Amino acid sequence: MRAFEATQHYFHQAADQLNMPDWTRKLLIMPKRELTVQVAFERDNGNIETLVGYRVQHDNSRGPMKGGLRYHPGVDLDEVRALASLMTWKTAVVDLPYGGAKGGIGVDPKDYSRKEIERMTRSFVDQIHDVVGPDTDIPAPDMGTNFEVMSWFRNQWEKYHGFNPAVITGKPVEEYGARGREEATGRGVGTMAVKLVKRLGRKPEKTRTAIQGFGNVGSHAAKFLTEAAFPVVAVSDITGTYYNPKGLDIPEMFRYILHNRGLAGYTNAQILDGDSLLTLDVDLLIPAALGDVITESNAKDIKATLIIEAANGPTDPAADLILYGRDVIVLPDILANAGGVTVSYFEWVQNRQHYRWGLDRVRQELDRTMSDAFEGVWQQSQEAKVSLRTAAFMIALKRVQKATELGGYS
Ligand code: NAD
Repeated sequence: MRAFEATQHYFHQAADQLNMPDWTRKLLIMPKRELTVQVAFERDNGNIETLVGYRVQHDNSRGPMKGGLRYHPGVDLDEVRALASLMTWKTAVVDLPYGGAKGGIGVDPKDYSRKEIERMTRSFVDQIHDVVGPDTDIPAPDMGTNFEVMSWFRNQWEKYHGFNPAVITGKPVEEYGARGREEATGRGVGTMAVKLVKRLGRKPEKTRTAIQGFGNVGSHAAKFLTEAAFPVVAVSDITGTYYNPKGLDIPEMFRYILHNRGLAGYTNAQILDGDSLLTLDVDLLIPAALGDVITESNAKDIKATLIIEAANGPTDPAADLILYGRDVIVLPDILANAGGVTVSYFEWVQNRQHYRWGLDRVRQELDRTMSDAFEGVWQQSQEAKVSLRTAAFMIALKRVQKATELGGYS
């Protein structure tokens, strides 16, 4: 199922629970603005390349719009539109004073040199600089972009508008970035696992965990969970699944990827094929790599009774229904991976105040924000007797609907 259709499906499930009229649904679903632009830049060999860039601004009723920039061959208007609306629901569910947006370029950054990516980014900014800004729409990194791209983006934007580092988040710490941003999403995922297990009266030590993806999110989630006494028995990356039924040595694997940029060649575990991770005999499964990995064809084979969606859109609606029917508890992406945008918000706040927080403060505020959001979603799901996903969407829809009503319709 296309990303946009899946998001719509979850939206309508929650809207049905809220008896939301059709005219409100249309108002909340349709993006405020969709921009498709030409991104032309010079290759190192002197040729001119022309790519397509997108920025979709979904909703700003609760504040300036916020969302990443993705450089990936799969980027198209449908994907960006879906991800922009997910940002609206994500910022609403954790109650950040933001709306949602997303953007990107349909390109594989691996095919370009660093200098070419810089020129590509600057050309993209030339096309969209007048619709983004600290009070309107604040981009951030996403797949295929990093702190360096954020620095180029800021520098080019400031050529038009003057000094204002709050125009973008995910910047290097030395250049107005926030301490703790790198670990934030994984830490938020870990916090959710601790809260969920406690709510269910289970014990971390007895919650065998498997994590798909050992990049930024997966590795930090694994580190946090290990420190919280969860036995992490399997992790995977693009090179395969690394398994030890007695628990992996996560600190060692964390150090390993810092030096080797991936798990290839790691020998202190059994090595299984990549996809087998999803159906291992574990208690908690954390997809932290790609979208659409839990589908109608494998949902019935999943043995975990808890799933925390660290990746965006890992479960398709048909699989979601099967899992719900099997009493598998799924903590949805819009709540589970909101730690990243939460610390991005802290970065924006610090930039606007010209004041820097220490790591302790970032962690403390992140843990509080995520914990409050979890409690709200848990209560909603108990009261309405719905899944955590529907509950999370219900809370988000109610907040956006209220802000839209208060702000007026024109
Ligand atoms: P990343 O590029 O740092 O890591 C991705 C990991 O997934 C790598 O270990 C890679 O080897 C692995 N992988 C790729 N294909 C795989 C496959 N077929 N099987 C198993 N592993 C595979 O990316 P990230 O920043 O960790 O993001 C992971 C997911 O989390 C994405 O869906 C992203 O949209 C989402 N997310 C990230 C953030 C963030 O702050 N980084 C915030 C919200 C959501």
